[in-house]
Amino acid sequence: MKIPFGDLKRQYDQLREPIDRATQEVYSSGWFVLGQHVQRFEAEFATYCGAMHGVGVGSGTEAIHLALLACGVEPGDEVITVSNTCVPTLSAISFAGAVPVFVDIDETTYTIDPARIEERITSKTKAIVPVHLYGQCADMDPILEIANRYGLVVVEDCAQATGAKYKGRMAGTMGHAGAFSFYPSKNLGAFGDGGLVLTNNATIADRVTKLRNYGQEKRYYHAIKGFNSRLDELQAAILSAKLPYLDQWNDRRRQIASRYDQAFSSLNVVCPVEAPDRVHVYHLYVIRVPQREQFQAFLAEKGIGTIIHYPVPVHLQASYSEYRDQGTYLPITEQQRRDIISLPLYPELTDDEVDYIIHTVVQAMTASSAIADC
Ligand SMILES: *Cc1c(COP(=O)(O)O)cnc(C)c1O
Repeated sequence: MKIPFGDLKRQYDQLREPIDRATQEVYSSGWFVLGQHVQRFEAEFATYCGAMHGVGVGSGTEAIHLALLACGVEPGDEVITVSNTCVPTLSAISFAGAVPVFVDIDETTYTIDPARIEERITSKTKAIVPVHLYGQCADMDPILEIANRYGLVVVEDCAQATGAKYKGRMAGTMGHAGAFSFYPSKNLGAFGDGGLVLTNNATIADRVTKLRNYGQEKRYYHAIKGFNSRLDELQAAILSAKLPYLDQWNDRRRQIASRYDQAFSSLNVVCPVEAPDRVHVYHLYVIRVPQREQFQAFLAEKGIGTIIHYPVPVHLQASYSEYRDQGTYLPITEQQRRDIISLPLYPELTDDEVDYIIHTVVQAMTASSAIADC
């Protein structure tokens, strides 16, 4: 069997008819940027999440960037976040001219450890960007409590957590703003780049609406300096066609995750932990194994694609080397990157494929414990 790490063709094959209909509508409308499809998707997505406003933007990176600006983050401000994330979280903070301050992660959920936030707060701290990594929300209540006490803004990075919940609340609705990505491989993916800022605050929504469109207030009247960062009509139409399926896709992800959890429970594998009050949507199924390189090679030989998310935390990237010394605060981040590995997990995997992945992981682990026992 050959099982790629991801396969976006499968979803299109299932939804060819509604997606083709939606895109045809855009072609024949003759209107391609900021029209009725974007408006409709913004409303649908905000309703799905139970928030007041959704503002479509060009990408998830831009969603974080514009949300930070709209929340008043200025050059030189410090923004607290994690190093164990996809680099775009940091691209957005850098775009805003802000200085990232890294906090270590919780060892079981891989999300920001709220107990380590306060020691990193200074007079320059303006915002916290918790990342709902791999599909699970960060522990938001203590984060919000600290933010409230210090007067900080909270922008949730929800790029990997569309549809995830924390104590019954949807990802993206707990902070001042939530930033979503519709990059094709995300749980709700477009056919190109796309993103959205979710907020219950009308002023923030209004600022993002201007910022994404050259700072324009009404046509050719520019209230503030802005950018070009818009969700386009085609992507919005595709996203509207897909949104009704998001919950069932996330359920299927959870079902596969639970099969993996059970099958690997007796192996020397650390499985993802879903915290009791959270609904994990398994954007990624990340395990920790000893001898990762051999494990990955074994699976590759058996036709199973795997990826490391992420091999190099941001503070150890060449592009962010000025923050390397913050590593002293990040022992867990630096440790876990050595043995994490992501298995294929997407709604379109067949039961046979899931069986094959399980069988192969069991085989790999039994082989490796035989090596370790010698
Ligand atoms: C994908 C991702 C982003 C960026 O989204 P884009 O749409 O690719 O710009 C930001 N943060 C995290 C955690 C992501 O996974």
